[in-house]
Amino acid sequence: MVRIIDTTLRDGHQSLIATRMRTEDMLPILEELDRVGFYSLEVWGGATFDVCLRFLGENPWERLRKIKERVHKTPLQMLLRGQNLVGYRHYADDVVEKFVHLSVKNGINIIRIFDALNDIRNMEVSIKAAKDAGAIVQGALSYTISPVHTIEKFVEMAVQFEKLGCDVICIKDMAGLISPQVAYNLVSAIKRAVKLPVNLHTHMTSGMGALSYYAACQAGVDIIDCAFSPFAGGVSQPAVEPLVASLHNTPYDTGLDLNQLVEISNYFAQVKQKYQEFSSPVAERSDVSVLVHQIPGGMISNLYAQLKEQGALNRYNDVLKEVPEVRKDLGYPPLVTPTSQIVGTQAVVNVLTGARYKMIIEEVKKYCLGLYGAPPAPINEELLRKAIGNKKPITCRPADLLEPELEQARREMEAQNIPIHSEEDLLSYVMLRRTK
Ligand code: MN
Repeated sequence: MVRIIDTTLRDGHQSLIATRMRTEDMLPILEELDRVGFYSLEVWGGATFDVCLRFLGENPWERLRKIKERVHKTPLQMLLRGQNLVGYRHYADDVVEKFVHLSVKNGINIIRIFDALNDIRNMEVSIKAAKDAGAIVQGALSYTISPVHTIEKFVEMAVQFEKLGCDVICIKDMAGLISPQVAYNLVSAIKRAVKLPVNLHTHMTSGMGALSYYAACQAGVDIIDCAFSPFAGGVSQPAVEPLVASLHNTPYDTGLDLNQLVEISNYFAQVKQKYQEFSSPVAERSDVSVLVHQIPGGMISNLYAQLKEQGALNRYNDVLKEVPEVRKDLGYPPLVTPTSQIVGTQAVVNVLTGARYKMIIEEVKKYCLGLYGAPPAPINEELLRKAIGNKKPITCRPADLLEPELEQARREMEAQNIPIHSEEDLLSYVMLRRTK
């Protein structure tokens, strides 16, 4: 039997409508979702936190509590970017510990933890905090294709996750790059090396996602991620309904009721219509060119919107071609938040200024200093010199250089007369807080 995680309320709408679904459109269907028998509902983390605060005027903690009130049986799951939590920079350890603790306190049961560079040092504190808080912890490896990303390397990472006490190994294929054969090989290799359940998370970006799930099933995958069809396909997850139908009466039967899924899907189809303005032509279709540029779904619609805004949509294809060049120069980071933004923005700058690295963005300089962690492969020497001159990159865990932030942030809020009704308010402030 294969279990299914429903990602509609997190990755589904993050991929297809820029994370804009409002809480009011989630609440009416939760009790129905709870009855389906999903392994979990992914409802929080990733971009949901940030978008609630910056675009929807919603309190993300309140959303989580309201969901929890209506979902009694099915575990609630979130996505956490290791030391980046749900933000875009490294936070100090005191923030990581507090944030994880409050996430669990407000209703999260399962936390999927990843790092954009697969640097385990960036995940250790959040993994430990999640274990201490009583959550089920998924150690996630960010899947990518490069000369230095081999099955052996990924398996080594899975073994480290097991040693750190993770409960599930997740293969996080955020850009939908994994082919059926690689999915089969990778799942088999991880299953041989560790005793934990394996969860494959992929997208339909290249069009291979559903086939890769089937291959993963044949290799013994335990859990796969799907979304309801209105929020599936394109750069989102494979749709749940056809997967359930496909696996019916096979050794991988999900045990889910198709009729019930169709009812829920009809509901989401109506919801989707309300958000058409946030959908993008590049997000709604599969396109194998992702195998070249590797940009994940969330980022590709951002990139499209960014160029459109600057009246430079005619350079879109040039930017897509520039992305793999920048990625290679930076030592082949997997493209996922925040590296997808860093590489994507530098690629835009290279194209629009007409010269590669004529201008180097601040984040690339930080990356070259090692402040995001260890790059998977050495950075191109010329870029390194242009970016940081004679400075020496750090070799320690980046967060070792960060002073505790919580009390400092509390003083800042008080000085600006920002009301702090709860610890959650303080954490929301810290997530959006900028430091030097
Ligand atoms: Mn994803």
